Amino acid sequence: MNPKTFIIDCPWCKAKVAALEHGHATKKGFDDEEGEPFGITLVVGECPSCHELLAGESYQIDFKGLDSDEDRWSDIVRIYPKPPKTFLSYRIPRTVRDSIAEADKSLQANANIAACAMLGRALEAVCRDVLEPAPSRRRSVPATSSPKKHVMLGEGIRKLKEKSFIDDRLYDWSQQLHAFRNIAAHPTDESISREDAEDLQTFVYAIIEYVYDLTDRYNEFKERISRKRKKSV
Ligand SMILES: [Zn+2]
Repeated sequence: MNPKTFIIDCPWCKAKVAALEHGHATKKGFDDEEGEPFGITLVVGECPSCHELLAGESYQIDFKGLDSDEDRWSDIVRIYPKPPKTFLSYRIPRTVRDSIAEADKSLQANANIAACAMLGRALEAVCRDVLEPAPSRRRSVPATSSPKKHVMLGEGIRKLKEKSFIDDRLYDWSQQLHAFRNIAAHPTDESISREDAEDLQTFVYAIIEYVYDLTDRYNEFKERISRKRKKSV
């Protein structure tokens, strides 16, 4: 009998592999709030090439007898090693979170150009969130006013630095990302290696962490210290 396998991205081999399955667990049901059906499978195994352990998750997309003739599951996304990045700050906009999730999925599928396009989208969304004052996003803007032009990536990066949201080093990284995003966005012959795309992903994570998570954490820290000082006076 052939051993059971599942397709997953091996970060060490930097390729999709048919991992040898050592076990899996599935849970199905209906969620408490909306009553929507769900299905999730966790699977563990080893890479047939480097023999490192790999674990992934898959979500059910179609449900037999409910919305489809047959059950259908998403591609397996790796959760060990190198799980998808999670950020802490509640201020991070959904567009940013969605774009980095898409970029990660693209990388795991070796779609490096798509990954760079999504990383650029994430950074552009950070620029808009940080630089565009909230009133422009409100619906109360009169319909007669001219439509607001959103800040684009190149200009956004410059302004982030001018206004000290990012420092010199993060600015350099952002510019590299901008250059690669442009390669990704236009039909040129240039290709992007997985190594480069992974580095850019790391830089984008650092920028988001700096702008949101670390800033929140530092503000909380300062507040705590000043409360303590006031108490001790
Ligand atoms: Zn491997």
